[in-house]
Order: sequence, then C-alpha cells, then structure tokens
Amino acid sequence: MIGGDLKVARRGLMFILSSPSGAGKTTLADRLLTKDGEMVLSVSVTTRPRRPGEAHGKDYYFVSEEEFFRMRDNNEFMEWANVFGYYYGTPTALVQETLRQGKDVLFDIDWQGAQQLDEVAGEDVVKVFILPPSRDELERRLRKRAQDPEDVVQKRMAKADAEMSHWAEYDYVIVNYDLDESEELLRSILFAERLKRRRQVGLAAIVKDMIGDN
Ligand code: 5GP
Repeated sequence: MIGGDLKVARRGLMFILSSPSGAGKTTLADRLLTKDGEMVLSVSVTTRPRRPGEAHGKDYYFVSEEEFFRMRDNNEFMEWANVFGYYYGTPTALVQETLRQGKDVLFDIDWQGAQQLDEVAGEDVVKVFILPPSRDELERRLRKRAQDPEDVVQKRMAKADAEMSHWAEYDYVIVNYDLDESEELLRSILFAERLKRRRQVGLAAIVKDMIGDN
C-alpha cells in the first residue's frame, strides 16, 4: 500500500472528491480517512433532514434554514450551494486550522463547491471526480440502495447526470471499477500531490544543509 507519513514539512492540501451518489465516493473517502493520519474530513453544514444512521457533527451539522442563512451572512462558509433543494456549506474555521497544521482536508462536495474552492484557494486545491463504471451499473447501485418506486430511481438518475456532466472540470478522474483498485489510485494521487515541490516547504532547509546556497 502506498502510504506512510512524509517527513519533510509540507503545506496541507484541499482534496476534493465529487461524484454522483452511488459511485462509491463515501466508501473511498472513509477508507482514505481511516488509513491516513494526516487527513481530516471537512464536515459540512446542511439543511437536509438527517437520514437514519447519520450523526450530527460526524456526517453533517444539521441546521435549520434560518441558522444556515445566519452562518452564510456571517461569512462562516468557505463555499456554499443549493444541491437539489437543500443548502450545504463548508465551515471555514476547520479548514484553515487543519491546513495551518500542515495536514490535508478532505471534502465530499458537489461541483458547485469544487468550483468555489478552486476560486478562493486554487493553489491548495486538488479535485478528483469518481465515475461509476457504467450507467447500467450506477442504476443498479441506486436501485439496490432502497426499494424505491420507479420515479424516485429516475429522479436519482437525473441528479447523477447533472453531477456527472461536470466531470471535465476536475484534475483527476477515476472510473470506479473496483473499490480496492480505486482506493490505491486515489492514494497515488494524494501522495503525488503531497510531494509537489511547492507543497514541501521544509525542502529548502534540508537542501541548504546538503549543498549550501548553491
Ligand atoms: P447528500 O445529501 O446525499 O449527503 O449529499 C448531496 C450532495 O451534496 C453530494 O453530492 C455531496 O457531495 C454534496 N455536498 C455535501 N456537503 C456539501 C457542501 O458543504 N458543499 C457543497 N457544495 N456540496 C456538498
């Protein structure tokens, strides 16, 4: 497995994962977070009702629209968007604190959020899009999730189409044929990005020790 803590001091990055629901993004995000000690999840604020099994403060901060707008007007969000009828926003404070510590922040946000973060923090942003292996497979996964009526499944497919139409705005795209393989690919992207010279702020001192000011 690609991994291990890097020893040179570095600047943290903002690792954005987007995908239609059903493509495996949440599983991949969980796997990255569990195995990587240098990455923290950005927990979003949302007005969407809590689903069974979701925890306040872990999956999302669930708030009323009134509270959401208060936070928005108070400039507490680094980005925010209306995604299929509900509001979602990324609180700025955790992101800034994590980056300051030289750690990375993982974002599970849609294309609107990815665009906004790119605008405000392009240098630190890495955008990865996860695609399902095929349309049929996505539909199969969306059906498997719940025994929903046909119109609900079709609505989900329409939302997936809307999200997928933005795939070309991303730096990297992984077609998720196999979870283990995709996890390794995602980790390769993460480590390559961590090793970018401009992010390794500790290099200058190390090299100076080796070769002086030449
Ligand atoms: P869900 O309600 O299924 O958890 O998420 C719906 C969509 O909203 C997903 O595509 C998810 O990535 C996106 N999302 C979650 N949090 C945020 C956020 O803070 N900002 C933006 N722009 N999108 C988000």
